[in-house]
Amino acid sequence: MQILKARVEAISPLTEFVYKVLLKPQQDAEFSAGHYLQLVLGEKDKRAFSIASSPSNKQQLELHIGASGADSYAMQALEHLKTAHIDGTEVDLEVGLGISQVRPEQARPIVLLAGGTGFSYVKSMADHLAEINYEQPVLFYWGVKEESALYAKAEMEAWAASKKNFQFIPVVEHASDAWQGHTGYVHQAVMKDIISLEPYSVYMAGRFNMIGIVRDDFINHGANRDFMYADAFAFIK
Ligand SMILES: Cc1cc2nc3c(=O)[nH]c(=O)nc-3n(C[C@H](O)[C@H](O)[C@H](O)COP(=O)(O)OP(=O)(O)OC[C@H]3O[C@@H](n4cnc5c(N)ncnc54)[C@H](O)[C@@H]3O)c2cc1C
Repeated sequence: MQILKARVEAISPLTEFVYKVLLKPQQDAEFSAGHYLQLVLGEKDKRAFSIASSPSNKQQLELHIGASGADSYAMQALEHLKTAHIDGTEVDLEVGLGISQVRPEQARPIVLLAGGTGFSYVKSMADHLAEINYEQPVLFYWGVKEESALYAKAEMEAWAASKKNFQFIPVVEHASDAWQGHTGYVHQAVMKDIISLEPYSVYMAGRFNMIGIVRDDFINHGANRDFMYADAFAFIK
């Protein structure tokens, strides 16, 4: 784990509820794709956010923060970042946390599974796998409640088009009649598309209750628990 100070370069809305934050660390940030950082608000108050950017970019860290409700965990963190941005002061970070970073050395096909802002966690891995020319199939499933929450759809379609072994599959839970793709829960779309998850390594992020359900359903669908990764596992039974 690396302790860093960083300037807040920019905060911009991605949707009505999700913000992109760009941080410039005072020294090169060292982390692996799939790691998270903690924004230090106080000695015992550290807020976890996945790093959306690739580890190849050591001089800028990108976060996607889903913040609604004035007193929410994420909104308080966002307010802290906004104040630092306006004042031009630095924020304190702990970088390179977690045990669910991507493991290309396994050379297995990969499912990247994101619910909502869990997108941030898998985005870093998707970019890293493209940079290292990963040769196994990589299936990137992103589930959202409404189509308007697919703020990086065009970017991910371009990512998928860049390699013949990459696929991007957006899944909208409450879709309009015009929506052509998968609907419902994102992990159910995975189970519809893939007969057995036995050969796959699975990386996932989303709400804690979602992760518990996905873990159990995927194991019933052939997935090997030793090849399933989510930092949320540390927080749930
Ligand atoms: C280490 C760590 C890092 C984190 N990093 C971030 C971060 O960078 N940014 C951030 O905003 N939060 C982060 N969080 C918090 C957490 O990941 C988010 O609260 C969560 O991703 C929010 O999801 P959402 O509200 O966007 O999803 P929603 O909009 O509620 O759901 C999106 C989709 O997820 C699926 N889903 C949701 N609930 C269920 C369910 N019960 N069963 C099956 N599928 C379901 C569905 O497909 C749904 O359409 C982090 C937490 C930890 C522990």
